[in-house]
Parts: sequence; structure tokens; C-alpha cells
Amino acid sequence: MPELPEVEALRRDLSPGLIGRAIVRSDITKPKMLVTLDGLELSGIHDRPIQTLSRRAKMLIVRFDRGVSLVVHLKLAGQLVHRDGDRVIAAGGHPIPRFDAPFPHRSTHGRFDLDDGTILWFTDIRQFGRVTVLDSTSVDGFLASKKLGLEPFDASFTPAALGASLRRHRALPIKSALLDQANLAGLGNIYADEALHGSGIHPLWPAGGLDDDQLVRLHRAIVESLTYAITNGVADLPAGKVRPDSDFPRAHGRRGLPCLVCQTTMVRITVGARSTDYCPTCQPRPD
Ligand SMILES: [Zn+2]
Repeated sequence: MPELPEVEALRRDLSPGLIGRAIVRSDITKPKMLVTLDGLELSGIHDRPIQTLSRRAKMLIVRFDRGVSLVVHLKLAGQLVHRDGDRVIAAGGHPIPRFDAPFPHRSTHGRFDLDDGTILWFTDIRQFGRVTVLDSTSVDGFLASKKLGLEPFDASFTPAALGASLRRHRALPIKSALLDQANLAGLGNIYADEALHGSGIHPLWPAGGLDDDQLVRLHRAIVESLTYAITNGVADLPAGKVRPDSDFPRAHGRRGLPCLVCQTTMVRITVGARSTDYCPTCQPRPD
């Protein structure tokens, strides 16, 4: 599943090629993957220069001239690929099909033709992805309806805000609480493990029982692990295991390998049905 760093990296990659351009033709072939609000149709985005590309949690928001927007949610397996013929200009999201495969792929369900002859392809092997067309004035309300939690790169994300959000969960394992999008928007399985390892907190620690020092460390580790992934490239985990010569991710995918901090063998447990890798020494069990 694309996580926040993947979507943010995609936003940054797509921006230079899309901003200022207009979409002249578009098509979503699976009706369930298109949501139209405010009396608009998909063609409502045509012939309006793209003004901004922003992100909230794992959603991309494309804002067009004259008050129309498009919200793209990649969900489990969506991908966006901007190409000039066979040449990939920018791409991100689920890695299947390959970004340089012949397009349209059989799982390609959307295309947006730009006024410079390039095409933005929307492909999703699972068909859970969604494209929503709406008035720009409705975007804030639409995002609010998703009941998303704190945005890790927003100024309102502080150790105190994180603590207030987590305390509602009392004894729920911190790993599970971090994955609840109503607490924190955009943190997925990989970066939850990274943040817990980076802050030395055991994944089964009660979410409501973190002290101030732990909250400060966890807050910092969340921002650091997401920032690292955005700037240095997102996690590459073939078959769920880290590449042997890679020191990223530092926790997830490293079961059976020595901890990069203390050399203790990393172990895997299941928390809330999600595979969770941690270091028994750096992340001691709660009493
Ligand atoms: Zn360790």
C-alpha cells in the first residue's frame, strides 16, 4: 500500500510536469472509481490550467483554475504514471505494473491527456482507488468527512497533540493506535515500525500510557522516518524483507537480522493482524 512518503514523493515528482498545464481529455473506465460531487462531471476539469498539487494524508489534491478540484486516493494498489509516449516523466504508487510497461495496462482505468501531448495514467490492479471531482470550495469539507487525524508535517502536530490523540485508546497497543488514521493520517505499517524503533518504544506498549519523554521521542521519530523516506527514497522491500545491503528501513523487514543500533537479533510479532518487526533490546517490553 502506498504510504505517506510515497504519496508525498509522488506529489513532488508530478508537480513540475503538471502545474500550469491543462487537461484536454480524460476518461475513467470503471464507474465505481469516479465520484462526482457538486453537480460536476469529469469533463469539468478540462481546459483549466492546474494551479497546485497538494496532499492530505494519502490523498493528492489537484486544484484547477476557476474553482474545480480533483482528489485522487490511491488506496491499496493505485498508481499514477505521467508519460510522454513511453518515457516516464514521473510515477508513484503501487509498483505493479511497471511504470515503463506498455500502457494502457489491462488494469489502467483512467487517463488524463494534457495539452502538451503527455498523458497521466491511473492504474489500479485492485480497483479500490478513487478519483473525486468537486468544487474547490468543497475540498476542505470533503477531507474533513474522512475523519483524518493529525498530519505529521503540519504545525499542529506536536508531542502534546500526539499524546492527546493516543490517550483515547488507553490499553490498545501503540502499534495499532499509530495505524489508526483517525489519530495520525498517513502512517502505515512500515513507518509505524520505524517510528517505534527510532523512539525505543515496544509495539505492545499501551497507547494511553506513554509518558512525556516517550511522546517527545515518538513524535520526533515519526517526523524523522517520514522525512527520510521522502528525501532519500521510499522503502524498498521485495517480498517484505529489507535488501541485505540496505540500512533502510531500520526496523520493518529486518526480522532475523542484527539491530542497526545494538546488534540484537530483530524479531517479528503480529500486532492487530499486522506484521511488526522490533528490537527486544532497544524496545523493552512494558512491565
Ligand atoms: Zn537494538
